[in-house]
Amino acid sequence: MPPPTPSAREIWSAVLGGLQLEVTRHNFDTWLKDTVGLSAQGGEFTVGVPSGFVAECLEKRMAPLIVRALEGRTGTDWAVRYEVVGDAPVPAPAPQPSAPSANARVRGAGAALNPRYTFATFVVGKANRFAHAAAIAVADQPGTAYNPLFIHAGVGLGKTHLLHAIGHAVAAQGRRYLYASAEHFTNDFVSALRENRVEDFRDKYRQTDVLLIDDIQFIAGKEHSRESFFHTFNDLHTSGKQIVITSDSRPKSIPLLEERLSSRFEGGLTADISPPDLETRMAILGAKADQAGVLLKDDVIEVLARKFLHNVRELEGGLNKVLAMAQMGRRDIDLSLAEQAIGDFQAEPSRARNYHPLDIIDGTAAYYGLTADDLAGATRKKNIAHARQVAAYLLRQETRLSLSDIGRLLGDRGHSTILRAHGKIAADIDVHSDLRRQVGEIRDALDRRNSRAVS
Ligand code: ADP
Ligand code: MG
Repeated sequence: MPPPTPSAREIWSAVLGGLQLEVTRHNFDTWLKDTVGLSAQGGEFTVGVPSGFVAECLEKRMAPLIVRALEGRTGTDWAVRYEVVGDAPVPAPAPQPSAPSANARVRGAGAALNPRYTFATFVVGKANRFAHAAAIAVADQPGTAYNPLFIHAGVGLGKTHLLHAIGHAVAAQGRRYLYASAEHFTNDFVSALRENRVEDFRDKYRQTDVLLIDDIQFIAGKEHSRESFFHTFNDLHTSGKQIVITSDSRPKSIPLLEERLSSRFEGGLTADISPPDLETRMAILGAKADQAGVLLKDDVIEVLARKFLHNVRELEGGLNKVLAMAQMGRRDIDLSLAEQAIGDFQAEPSRARNYHPLDIIDGTAAYYGLTADDLAGATRKKNIAHARQVAAYLLRQETRLSLSDIGRLLGDRGHSTILRAHGKIAADIDVHSDLRRQVGEIRDALDRRNSRAVS
């Protein structure tokens, strides 16, 4: 039996799977991640976007890429249209007991929770167990368990998922939540300031039982918003309201936050999420496939789980790619298909990320508090040797340089030294979550550098 014709939603998620490889992670997260295929009719493909601003940027900056990707997936030309499906943080409407997440992502209504991001769909493993337990505790007893709860993790490790899950859970208890990215919070504040509506702004944020602020690192550099956030935060905290904050960097790198949020408020808790181990990655893939209504064989799951180490979003991207290839090519999902899909990811490392080798060296050195000269130097001190090995690993993974070229960059070391270093990190990375986190954070920093260079 041939598979059914894919819906606009399915086509678009396949397109996203492909685009994920073509643009930087930062661009993907900023512009594409929260889009959805709405309809494909009469030569017109409609994409739902969170805001008019995103629509404008997609049109201006990514139109050719998107048109080409759509055409590649479907074999047809499309006129692409964007429709805003709402992003403003709004207080949750009174919950419907029978459909606790009915308020999520309602078109036009501006609600902000993704209906797929619930506790039920969150796979728990060693790396996220603590953060998950803290999130559950907070959702069960907002304002009393841990306040504020501060979740931090690298990109794509489930921060937003957990934050939305808390929102769904408290809404189901009839409480009010307010979910806002720190960016939104900032914009909201700035326009309130401009329009002399600061009191309204305060009131709006004060009215909620649970304030969920995503990606607080965005606020760190913005003085006005930071101050306003602390005022709002103080208000809410003293009146026993729950606050949950996520950040993609350790609090230490956000000095003011660290100082004012973590130490001044007793009863707060900080929870980390590290990149998941192999077993958890396999469980996540199994669950995602299940949600897509597909049964994956163990060998397929394992080959995917071994490929994507650092980031659950990439893991999902890999799975989406496999599903899309199966659907478009009307093929069964087997090992050879999975390997082919993964092959595409490996074939063009520089297109996927485009890190400059010198940036990798600088970025790795800086991450470990060292300099490029340290990495190229003769010392075998343990911390320097480790940083050097990580640099060798990243250079081999992310660039097309030969082993000898890499050796030259790292202080005229031989190609077998580089090979050993790469092998060591590659083997360790799957066993040690701390190393996975380090490498993930270095990649994130390189992505940020890249996206700054682009814009
Ligand atoms: P972050 O906000 O940390 O960048 P997200 O919460 O957006 O990451 O997660 C990225 C993707 O990975 C989402 O689709 C999310 O559902 C998925 N994901 C992350 N962690 C898990 C998990 N433990 N179980 C299931 N899905 C997960
Ligand atoms: Mg997020």
